[in-house]
Order: sequence, then C-alpha cells, then structure tokens
Amino acid sequence: MHVSSMGASKLCFLFSLALCALLLLIPTLQPSQHQGDLPRPRAHNKPARHPGRLVTGSEGDFLHRTGGLKDIFIAVKTTRKYHKSRLDLLFQTWVSKAKEQTFIFTDGEDQELRRRAGANVINTNCSAAHTRQALCCKMSVEYDKFIESQRKWFCHMDDDNYVIVPSLLKLLSSYHHTQDVYLGRPSLDHPIEAAERVKSDGSVSVKFWFATGGAGFCISRGLALKMSPWASLGNFISTAEKIRLPDDCTMGYIIEALLEVTLTHTHLFHSHLENLQRLPTDTVLEQVTLSYGGFENRRNVISIGGAFSLVEDPSRFKTVHCLLYPETDWCPSMGHH
Ligand code: UDP
Ligand code: MN
Repeated sequence: MHVSSMGASKLCFLFSLALCALLLLIPTLQPSQHQGDLPRPRAHNKPARHPGRLVTGSEGDFLHRTGGLKDIFIAVKTTRKYHKSRLDLLFQTWVSKAKEQTFIFTDGEDQELRRRAGANVINTNCSAAHTRQALCCKMSVEYDKFIESQRKWFCHMDDDNYVIVPSLLKLLSSYHHTQDVYLGRPSLDHPIEAAERVKSDGSVSVKFWFATGGAGFCISRGLALKMSPWASLGNFISTAEKIRLPDDCTMGYIIEALLEVTLTHTHLFHSHLENLQRLPTDTVLEQVTLSYGGFENRRNVISIGGAFSLVEDPSRFKTVHCLLYPETDWCPSMGHH
C-alpha cells in the first residue's frame, strides 16, 4: 500500500496529538501511590500564609475537630546538666505557648525547675548516661505518662528543639487521633536494617523506617494504644534490647515492623543532623520543629535575621520566637528597631 508523504506526516501529527493526550491523562487515571493504609490528611480550608497569625483559623478548625492544644502531650527529653543551658531557653520561648501541654522528662531533681513547671516535670529516675538503656528508659516513661494522660496526640521532642506550636496544630488537624498516625522525619533516605533477636539465639533481619528523635515526632493515641504490648510498663526497654538500637529506632521498629503501620514522612521536622543553614529563610516560620547544633566550632543553625545577633541568640530560637510572637515583652517593640 502506498501512502503519500503528505498523508504520512498528517497521520504522524494526529498520532502524536493522541499520544500527548494519553500521557496527560495517565496521572489522573493512576491511583496515587501509598493509598493503602496510610492516614490521609484531611483537606484544609485555606493554606496558612502567616504562621504567626494562623492560630485563630487553624486552631479554630482543630478545636472544632479534636479539641485543640489541650489534647496534645509534648514530651521533652532532657538531662540534669542541660536544665540551665537548654531548658531555660525553651521556657523563655515556645514552651510559654504550650505550658499545659509540655512535660519535661529528666533524670535529676531540680528545685528551680520544679518551681517553674510543677507537676509537668517528671523525674524518670532513669540513669543520666547517654546510653541506649538510659534513653530508652526515658522514652518508656514518656510513653506511659502519655497513655495515662488520656490526650489524643503524643509528640516527643529533644531539649534542642523549637516547636512552632501553630504549625504543629495545623499539621495534626489534618489527621484523626483514632487513625494510626506516626509522623516524623526519616533520618536516613532508606529504611534501616536491623538484626532482630529471636527466641533461641538466632536472629533475623528486619527493615523499617523510623522518625529521627532529634527532629521530634508525633504518634496518635489510636496507634499508641496498639503499641502497648511492646511499649508499656518497661516493655519498651526489652523491645529495644531485642534489636539493640536507640529509642527512636525502637519506636520505628514497633510501629513499622511489628504493627505494620507506615511512617508518614514529613520534612517539616528538623534536627541538627541536617544542614540547617540550607533551610530557606522564608519557610522557617512554616516548619513544625527546628533545632541547632555545633556551637563550638562548626555552627549549624538556621539562617534567619531579626531582633538578635548571632552572639545574643546563637540558636536563633529567640529570633524565631519574636517573629512569631512580636508582642512578647522581651522582644524589641516593632517600629523602634
Ligand atoms: N540526653 C539525655 N541524657 C544524656 C545526654 C543527652 O537524656 O546523657 C538527651 C538530651 O537532653 C537531648 C537528647 O538526649 O534531649 C539528645 O542529646 P544531644 O542533643 O546532646 O545529642 P545528639 O542530638 O547529638 O544525639
Ligand atoms: Mn541534639
């Protein structure tokens, strides 16, 4: 059969048009990935442009759905030697916006801290060493206290985290506390592989994602209750011993490997394991957690300018706080600076 060259190019054109249309349709035809059992964020009324002022809208929403700030349990892990150097800054800044929600888990009695935070200070009686056992002991107490609290969300933080409370509320308002929700920042770009000790003396390999503890993470009450056989009343410590990994990895192991619930990866949580300087300045106030590290030699802090110099505010937490809450009494008054 003979087709004229004119006819052939017309055919070609029509064919490529059809191909383009098909290619455009593919994404809408495909079901989105990971739809299975993953908690699905709920639709928001409108995106927040000013995190500092978003409290009313988003908190209003959240209050309506789940009760709001009062339903969150924020655990801050600390140790006696950091009460002055790290906790003071937190009380001065974000903790003042979530006093009833924040619980300090430490390892030594401190009259001044007790006066400041009363029953919200929990002396875990865990060892003050930076060992796997000591850190797992604290996480185990955090878990038990959360369960006892009857609150809807458990969020774990380190004492070098800044929590942007309005952003946290906004994020949690997308989920329901009865769903299985495990939210955090994966510390690796691949799942961790661990040797799980089994009954006899053998071991099998398990792979799972975990949220890095240094960036903070949150767990819904629904999921926390399911974790109970491996996490409550000292079981957390024996579970950690089974895989010989730190507290945050053990959380991931219980949730992903044992309960088969998927970590919801979010990049709104930050630890000083990442290069914080690279976080775009104009997105800082939209993040959920921030951190700082390496003061001495290689400083790793977010880059943000404002009321305080690097000498006055090496962590940048005061600067962030004054941008979020300019009305704070120790923030320089607007217009004067
Ligand atoms: N921490 C602790 N006991 C210790 C040392 C540290 O509970 O003996 C806590 C500390 O307060 C912080 C977390 O563990 O909340 C991580 O400690 P750090 O920031 O010093 O170490 P890195 O982030 O480098 O692991
Ligand atoms: Mn740290």
